[in-house]
Formats: sequence, structure tokens, C-alpha cells
Amino acid sequence: MGMRFTLAKAAGAVSTWGLRHVAHRPAANLPGKIALKVDPALLDELRGKCAEGSVITVGTNGKTSTNNLLADAFEAAGRTIICNRTGANLAAGIASALLQQPAAQWGVFECDELWLAHVLPHLRSRYVLLLNLFRDQLDRCGEIDRIQTSIAGALAASPDTVLLYNADDPLCARIADTVVNRSIPFGLDEDLKLAQNTVADAQMCQKCDGMVRYRYRQYGQLGDYFCDQCDFARPALVYAGRDIAIGAAGVTMAAEAMEAGEEVPQVLSGLTFVLTGTLAASGMTRDEAGARLKAMGAKVSGSVSKKTSFVVAGESAGSKYDKAVSLGVPVLDEAALLHLLETGEVPRDI
Ligand SMILES: [Zn+2]
Repeated sequence: MGMRFTLAKAAGAVSTWGLRHVAHRPAANLPGKIALKVDPALLDELRGKCAEGSVITVGTNGKTSTNNLLADAFEAAGRTIICNRTGANLAAGIASALLQQPAAQWGVFECDELWLAHVLPHLRSRYVLLLNLFRDQLDRCGEIDRIQTSIAGALAASPDTVLLYNADDPLCARIADTVVNRSIPFGLDEDLKLAQNTVADAQMCQKCDGMVRYRYRQYGQLGDYFCDQCDFARPALVYAGRDIAIGAAGVTMAAEAMEAGEEVPQVLSGLTFVLTGTLAASGMTRDEAGARLKAMGAKVSGSVSKKTSFVVAGESAGSKYDKAVSLGVPVLDEAALLHLLETGEVPRDI
């Protein structure tokens, strides 16, 4: 925590006070803007104010209402949060919220699509929630593929972030296709039979030269789609909305978690494993073991470095084992691996 951060916090506090008490104006943007000028690494420093991490909501339509709904849900579940509820969704607005609100368990932020690349690499959020991408930002943002590239770039810079995305939108699904981040699709699993009075944004397949067809289309380009020439199609939904009713009081639905996508607790999140040798006792291949580790949130790498959390050494482990020993990386045998996979308990003393 350096002098710049201290100065930035002071500048944020003074400008918040001045705006509220002297100018009688909301202080949703300017304090963060000033503080970011003083300390460009401000968001890295403030990240720790959200003890359990943060969620960032992005998308063309519905960001503020969805993010505020999410914030309400966190609070209803008894969690404390920091949130930019007013919709100030550039880096300055998020920085203002982090400066002005007391430390909390979770950060719940909405972010402008093109600003995600400036925010996510610093906040390194646990989740990005991607709602939809419509072309009505054309004048401001340029082509939709520029927005897609920017969002994908932001996710690449924060590879531990999990992408929760609206699979009904082929433009969002295409982003999930191109990133290495763990991605969880959600969507509406029935035809709402709405009047088709909007022009779909994505008619051409973004993976090949084919056309995107629809089993049903809800609105714009959202629906259950597939390409007529390649394997691009709406992914199998992990979370699906069903029994959807739209009435005067709003929308109701039943949200179901699909069995195939049953959430496994991400107890190994942040840990990197390297597997070497033969797992003779369990008969698992290294790929199978790696897949199980990944499903629990771990990263699996092919080479040992100082950043490796654990090396799993089966029978006749070779140079990777030697390298782990020379770097002081903890080594697990197959029994310890099986114990870890069964219990999710990370070994502390090896
Ligand atoms: Zn295609």
C-alpha cells in the first residue's frame, strides 16, 4: 500500500465530501475519476475490500436492473455488498463505489461493455455475468465484433474469472466459445411465442459462412439457434428458465439447474496442478484426473514452475517430479490426490 494509494483515497474522500456537502451533488463518478488519476492502480488496491470477491454485470440491455436485483439477492442471503447502484458504470463509477462504501463480503458491479477491459484485469472478479449484446450501441461503440473482442480480451486477462452468459444470445455464446475461462450458460428453455417484430442482429454464423437458424426466437437474436453449416448452436443450458409467465406484475419462472451442469463446489479455485507419471492404483488417466481437478475450480498446467501449487506424481514420474523438488513445489502421491478429489480438502502440511 503505497503513498499514491493513500493520496488517491484522500482525494476520493475530499471530493466526495465537497460534492455532497458543498456542491450538493451526487458523488457517483468524480471522486473515483480523480482518485484513478492519482493512482492508476487504484482498483488493484481496492479489490481486497470485497473479501469474497466480486461479480460484474455487462451487456447492452438490462444491466442496471439485473445488477440491482443481484445486489438485492446477495443482501437477502445475508451478505454485505459494495455496489454501484446508481448505474455509474465506467471505471470511475466502480472506483467511487469502492472508495465510498465500507468493506464488504462481495462486490456487485455493473460495467460498461467496453470498460470491462479496463476494470476486470484489476478487480479480477470471481464472476462476469454477460446478459446480451445488441447493436443499438453502434454509434458509440462501433461494430459488435469489436465489443466481443474487447470482452474476450478482458476475460483473457483474468483467466480465473468464471463467465456466466446468456446462451440464448449467439453473440454471447460466441464469446464463451473463444475464451479459456470456465463458462456457464443460462437461458430460457421454452418458446415464449412473442410477436417477432424485431430484426435479429446475428443472422450470419460467426464461426463459418453459414446462416443462423432458429427453432424459436424470443426477441432480437435471442432464442434457440443453430448454424445450418457448422456445429455452432445454442449450448446445452446449465441453468434453464421454465414455466415462464409474463403478466402485468412482471415475469415469473422456475429456474432449474440441469443435472449435467450440476455445480461442483469450486474449492480448488486459484490452485494450479501439474500431473505426471501413471496413476496406477485408481486406473484414472491423467486427463480424467485433470478434468476432475478442473471441475473443482483448479487449473491444470503441463509444466512445473514456481507458480505451481501442487505436482501430482504417479508411478514412474520423471523430470517434472525432479523439477517440483528443486523448486520446492509440494508433491502429492496418488492416495493424496484421491483424498483431495473425494473430500475437497486441500493438503496443508506436506
Ligand atoms: Zn456456422
